[in-house]
Amino acid sequence: MTSAAAYEATIGLEVHVQLRTASKLFCGCANEFGAPPNTLTCPVCLGHPGSLPVLNGEAILLGLRAAAALDCSLPAMIRFDRKNYFYPDLPKGFQISQHSGAVGLDGAVEYWDEEGGGTVAVERVHLEEDTAKAVHAEAYVRPGETLLDFNRSGVPLMEVVSRPVITSPEMARRYIVAVRQTLIDVGVSDCGLEKGAFRIDTNISVKPKGEAKLGEQVEIKNLNSIRAMEAALEYEFERQREILAGGGKVERVTLHYDDATGETTPTRFKEVRADYRYFAEPDLPPVALPASYVEKVRADDFAPPAARIRELREGYDTTLAEAEMLAFAPAYYDFLGRAAAAYGGERRAVVNWLVGDVTRELKERGEELADAKLTPEGLASLLKLLDAGEVNVPGAREVLAALMNEGGDPAALLEAKGLGQISDAGALEELVRAAAAANPKAVADLRAGKERARGALVGYVMKETKGRANPQIVNELITKVIAAGD
Ligand code: ZN
Ligand code: MN
Repeated sequence: MTSAAAYEATIGLEVHVQLRTASKLFCGCANEFGAPPNTLTCPVCLGHPGSLPVLNGEAILLGLRAAAALDCSLPAMIRFDRKNYFYPDLPKGFQISQHSGAVGLDGAVEYWDEEGGGTVAVERVHLEEDTAKAVHAEAYVRPGETLLDFNRSGVPLMEVVSRPVITSPEMARRYIVAVRQTLIDVGVSDCGLEKGAFRIDTNISVKPKGEAKLGEQVEIKNLNSIRAMEAALEYEFERQREILAGGGKVERVTLHYDDATGETTPTRFKEVRADYRYFAEPDLPPVALPASYVEKVRADDFAPPAARIRELREGYDTTLAEAEMLAFAPAYYDFLGRAAAAYGGERRAVVNWLVGDVTRELKERGEELADAKLTPEGLASLLKLLDAGEVNVPGAREVLAALMNEGGDPAALLEAKGLGQISDAGALEELVRAAAAANPKAVADLRAGKERARGALVGYVMKETKGRANPQIVNELITKVIAAGD
């Protein structure tokens, strides 16, 4: 184990995201996951010679919307290019991509962490067609064979390329989480990792700390989860540190990360920079984007996920984990905002009830917040009754359960169920005296300074009042009765 402190990592990330359009990028075939293999195809997406691509306007709109949300500058003109290479999943011998006419340039993504987070610069966002899918793992594939499914061929992909400014595997994870959440929020993709709708490639180089010249860059392709990406980068950072510490040289390679072993292995040795011979796609003219159209995409008011996290942490005094839970569940986020506004009291109290009792009740019932009968206004009214001393916490929990079952007005439920808090000092003092008479040992212990003995007296009063006694008044009365010594 070499000292991590003596070395620094430089990490860049490329994410391929399938856009949620109805049809494919250059033909009318459905953009659908999970259909039987090769049922969503036509001459265009099968790559037949002479077939002509027709650009899908919806994909352009989604690409621009994503680029705007990633804080990119938007172009006045977009273009497509041919990226030439040979691979079985690409029978036409080129991928239609954007080399010079991308949908977005020079963006920035804000991420969050316990220390307040930071920003990662995005170099570009461009559109391209997905390739066919090579299938090896399915039961219908014979050992040693690979089949091709062209349902995926031509699905609109958006590639988001970060600048190589990420300095740790953890920062890479935080950036990726922020990118993914942004794209989900603006509705361009569901970013389902398990379906391959969000695929991560990364590159990492390592150099001695303070050294200006970057180390040799290693690529890790096709990471299938965010956790796998972080683990692969951790492994690779360590592996390269070991090589450098031993006086060795890191080789330029493309690696595959094995989720099962947690190790990276080379896919190709002696890597040379591929020459894709990009040139303008002759079958697709450049598309000019009217300024009014671009401005409309840009103007969509959009609060990035980091802003919501900040609002929850600072405005609602949440932990980071609570903020992540509340910020990315729209039903919770809306409920919280409305309940806090209706309540007007300490916002942290609303968070406590929402992430505590409300969530627990929902889980027990197997319900979603959106389907529950509880309204934000109902929770707010209940909190006001608590503040006013009309009900104690156990009583409020019972009212909450009733609100979730039937909805309605908390004050009326309190009345109907006889859960109102007893704050009548005279009545409570009598009960406290009875408790003291019934528990002489607890009284003696309390007088000897053993505060834990108080529980027996409180318990007696609560039992007698079916839990409705005001606990604060009961405690004051116990102190008074004990001090009086009678
Ligand atoms: Zn097609
Ligand atoms: Mn690509």
